[in-house]
Amino acid sequence: MEKIAFIGLGNMGMPMALNLVKAGHAVTGFDLSEPIQIKAKELGLTIADTLNTAVQSASVIITMLPKGEHVISVYNEICPLLSNERLLIDCSTIDVANALQAHHLASYGKHLSVDAPVSGGTGGAEAGTLTFMCGGAESAFAKAKPILEAMGKRIVHCGEDGTGQAAKICNNMILGVSMIAVCEAFALGEKLGLSHQALFDVASTSSGQCWALTSYCPVPGPVPASPANNDYHPGFAAALMLKDLRLSQDAAEAVQLATPMGANAATLYEKFVSAGHAGQDFSAIIEMLRGQGLET
Ligand code: NAD
Repeated sequence: MEKIAFIGLGNMGMPMALNLVKAGHAVTGFDLSEPIQIKAKELGLTIADTLNTAVQSASVIITMLPKGEHVISVYNEICPLLSNERLLIDCSTIDVANALQAHHLASYGKHLSVDAPVSGGTGGAEAGTLTFMCGGAESAFAKAKPILEAMGKRIVHCGEDGTGQAAKICNNMILGVSMIAVCEAFALGEKLGLSHQALFDVASTSSGQCWALTSYCPVPGPVPASPANNDYHPGFAAALMLKDLRLSQDAAEAVQLATPMGANAATLYEKFVSAGHAGQDFSAIIEMLRGQGLET
């Protein structure tokens, strides 16, 4: 049993923290949002009033925050405060530069640290079946692994500091591109008189098979748990997908690699988010794609 502080109890963080409690860990949560604090208490989670109180007696500190700037601000606040060695695990999806900065802040305070972004969505977070992509020293990974196992079914050590984020950025570029491809196929199928179920039955067992189709189908019906059946309530918000696609484009630019499909996906999600759909699930982009004529 570990004493764990869990910072950021949103769509992902809350179910992840609850799985740690289920596994027998002593978890203290913290989130800036008052409604989230109330919800967490209702779900039986111990909540601290301040960040400092949450981390004070924790041996492990997990962050699950929206962006790099949030992670750095939390690390800036806690790293100098904590005297003895702690294990810091950042599960947020952030850029590699900020991930390296977080490792740097942790090592300055003599703490172990792992960047451990996840794949598997809110369904995976609830079921405890996430994939964790970890970057960090072998010693930090070895300590983090049994804790992550309470929240995921696949824990991969990708390499040194920052490589977990690199893997996540590449994975989500595949996801953004493949979701658009699946949406375009359903939109075209509709125009051609093909039922959603027929296209699903064929493509899910053919060469078009992919996660965006089989686990997260963007039309209601074929996959009952997908956000399309819940009025495109996230799930994984379009704003977060845009964030990840921008991260992949920044990373590609930094190494001077052209990723034209990733670039196109970023442009389409930018258009979707600017049209007021930031808070919708990212699969709702099918509604915009249906409305596009040949000129767009
Ligand atoms: P979310 O917006 O639902 O939750 C983030 C939470 O962090 C919010 O409750 C917010 O109040 C809190 N927060 C922000 N700044 C804080 C601070 N300084 N201190 C304490 N709390 C703070 O986001 P999410 O969907 O849970 O995603 C979290 C991260 O996980 C993101 O980086 C996202 O890209 C990544 N991710 C999300 C999914 C998904 O399906 N939602 C899947 C994989 C990865």
